[in-house]
Amino acid sequence: MKIKVHDIPEEGVTYHPSFKHDPWFGELVKIFDDYRAGDPVSLELQLLKTYDHVLMSGRLAISLYPACARCLEGFTQDCVIPIRVHLSPALKIPGGNAKEEPDEMEDEGFFPYEHDEFDLVEVLREILYLEMPLRRLCREDCAGLCPRCGKNLNQGACGCKPSGTGSPWQALKNL
Ligand SMILES: [Zn+2]
Ligand SMILES: [Zn+2]
Repeated sequence: MKIKVHDIPEEGVTYHPSFKHDPWFGELVKIFDDYRAGDPVSLELQLLKTYDHVLMSGRLAISLYPACARCLEGFTQDCVIPIRVHLSPALKIPGGNAKEEPDEMEDEGFFPYEHDEFDLVEVLREILYLEMPLRRLCREDCAGLCPRCGKNLNQGACGCKPSGTGSPWQALKNL
């Protein structure tokens, strides 16, 4: 969704998109592999302009259904991702043509735009990629899977012998 900077009113503009009325919002949410259609998601976004500088701020609240990195069980994770980025004309960002310098943007929270416009969805997508939770556990003390039989140890112990007997070094000792 292209936004013309000079179309942003002095008092700013606020978005509360819905899937029904804002097809771009549905497109945006697609970047979350583990979002399940129908689960809660909401975006609050505000654009405030100072001369040719735009501050985009807000938050995305979304329920995800990832697989635990340790036990592989699916679980519900409620995330709130803060959004705060400065948009400036590309030429005014230190380093010049910032389109080819994504590092600059990540460090400073700056995003360049050209020709008085930017793509709202593109900017949001970049921010959300950076802020997305990476390694997820169903709970901090998840016991994970037994490395030998694969049982989910959160559901109780398996019948495997205590670790040590199964190590490759043990097999060498037995020779
Ligand atoms: Zn787990
Ligand atoms: Zn086991």
